[in-house]
Amino acid sequence: MRRIFLLFLLAPAVVSSQAPTYDVVLRGGRVIDGTASPWYRADIAIKGDTIVRIAPAIVEPAARVIDLNGLVVAPGFIDIHTHARRGIFEVPTADNYIRQGVTTLIEGPDGGSPVPLRPFLDKVSGTRISPNFATFIGQGSVRSEVMGEVDRTATAEEVEHMRTLVRQGMEDGALGLSSGLFYVPGTFTPTAEVVELAKVAGRMGGIYISHMRNEARGVLDSVKETITIGEQGGLPTQVTHHKVVGKKYWGQSVQTLQLIDDARARGVDATIDQYPYTASATSIGAALLPAWAQEGGRDSTLARLKDPAARAKIKGESVAIIRDERGGGDPRNVVASSCGFDPSLAGKNLAEITEKRGVPVTLENAAETAMWIVEQGGCQGIFHAISEEDLQRILVHPATMVGSDGEIPIFGRNHPHPRSYGTFVRVLGVYVREKKLLPLERAVQKMSAFPAQRLGLADRGVIRQGMKADVAIFDPATVRDTATFEKPHSYAEGVHYVLVNGQVVFENGKMTDARPGRILYGPAAKTQSPTSSSARAFVSATGTEMRVLADEKDVRGNEVEIVELKFPPNSDSGDHRHAVTETFYVLDGQMEQVINGTPVKLTTGMSATIRSTDQVRHKSGPEGARVLVVWAPGGEIARVTARWRPQP
Ligand SMILES: [Zn+2]
Repeated sequence: MRRIFLLFLLAPAVVSSQAPTYDVVLRGGRVIDGTASPWYRADIAIKGDTIVRIAPAIVEPAARVIDLNGLVVAPGFIDIHTHARRGIFEVPTADNYIRQGVTTLIEGPDGGSPVPLRPFLDKVSGTRISPNFATFIGQGSVRSEVMGEVDRTATAEEVEHMRTLVRQGMEDGALGLSSGLFYVPGTFTPTAEVVELAKVAGRMGGIYISHMRNEARGVLDSVKETITIGEQGGLPTQVTHHKVVGKKYWGQSVQTLQLIDDARARGVDATIDQYPYTASATSIGAALLPAWAQEGGRDSTLARLKDPAARAKIKGESVAIIRDERGGGDPRNVVASSCGFDPSLAGKNLAEITEKRGVPVTLENAAETAMWIVEQGGCQGIFHAISEEDLQRILVHPATMVGSDGEIPIFGRNHPHPRSYGTFVRVLGVYVREKKLLPLERAVQKMSAFPAQRLGLADRGVIRQGMKADVAIFDPATVRDTATFEKPHSYAEGVHYVLVNGQVVFENGKMTDARPGRILYGPAAKTQSPTSSSARAFVSATGTEMRVLADEKDVRGNEVEIVELKFPPNSDSGDHRHAVTETFYVLDGQMEQVINGTPVKLTTGMSATIRSTDQVRHKSGPEGARVLVVWAPGGEIARVTARWRPQP
């Protein structure tokens, strides 16, 4: 009654402006809906995080109307292969991706992911990020966890342990299983062992995606193996960043694509992703030294390099790799992108580094330089060894989607592969507009609906009523990449607006303050529902913070209880295991005020009641508390689980 009365009193003040029906209306755009259908003209209305209406003209009031004057409105791009794991904490806005229109980043590729996934995902979840984020569970990391980096067959018990870890990864929210059979320890894994893990991921609704065993002389066998793993594992399978490395093997994409076509014809769900560059990037050691030389980790590699006989053998194989494979036939085709031991080497090629070491540039000396680099601590490198013809043939294939294989660089630091800044807009600018290799609608489909369908992201990737409002708005006449191998730190051009979950994260050339990105959990994820009394908790890397995340908008009066608490094995059991229930509230992601600073001993069963939110300074948004932080100044917490106890 009282509320109605108040509204009535307020009514005269707002009589001239109706309450907005929508939060955002995108007016007058050309809609490319992601399905590869031809574009059409329409207005799009968004409420909250959802596209609620699409119509020729939407005239109802909106909190914000953005006039697009014929710009293209596409689903936000989904990057199925990224190495954003470190960068997402350093640059949570992921500017290099957002500025291309990428709204979802998929991590955990090439067989590498945190094991277990949950603490990592909780940490991302506790970080205010701009794009959405999801991950695979990595076969190499799982094997490493169980067996170390050894070259031998797994025992039945070890396989069972690995299956358990994959199952746990899927329950933690993985989208499927990734492998990097080129790398250590993936390279030591027999196909049948991968199949056993793939079966687990497949039964739980996941896909398999693989950086194949060999992308040069063994590329055909490797595609066959990827197909076999999908076929025997009973799950969709994908060749990731498909390419044919090494001049000697150029042209073999004709056969690799035929293999994919044949597999699909007999009912195997096999697909491809690709980045639009004729150079790859990975560590110089992994790329130019044979896999056997890397068994057992860095110390073993160094020991082999000290042994004259082993060194000679490594050198011989490395020469062949530089001549016929990753090295692109010429040491100038290998460029260091970052070197921890000597940052001044970034941007220099293997010939220049060889010269710098005072020896003539020959294949043999370049191999020596590669071994020297590994001994010094290693470099990341860029390898120019892919043909444009193969690239284009793969790109236009109907089973190919676009993925960057990039990272989130710190702007200006190191010398990364330009794919991190340019992949998606390069396809739109170079291959659609300039080379007219494929229609714009088809290119967009390869970046949105196709990866969304592949990953089971049923509410993204298409512009349609009811879908999440991840949107990329660009000018098809000007969209382009500006990052080059020489000057990689350069943002995309021609993208005008980017929305994630209904919020504008980029406009007029600038990132906004909005950080609406979410974790997208996979098909088997056991996540807590917002109304349950459980909460996700994690401990900061330094062990100084325990955070409990709740989805409740207002947790006033609720109690958080520590259900399980673990200290590191070596921690002192003395008095300083005290924690201070310095209970912070985080408002819309920004940590603010200490509420009750009474020191208590942190134990299982401990609880802290949220007494009041009155003192909380609102830095942004009046939404209410979402995160409670318990701070242990000594840094002694190793693991914690907690639950909310909502108070009546
Ligand atoms: Zn890879």
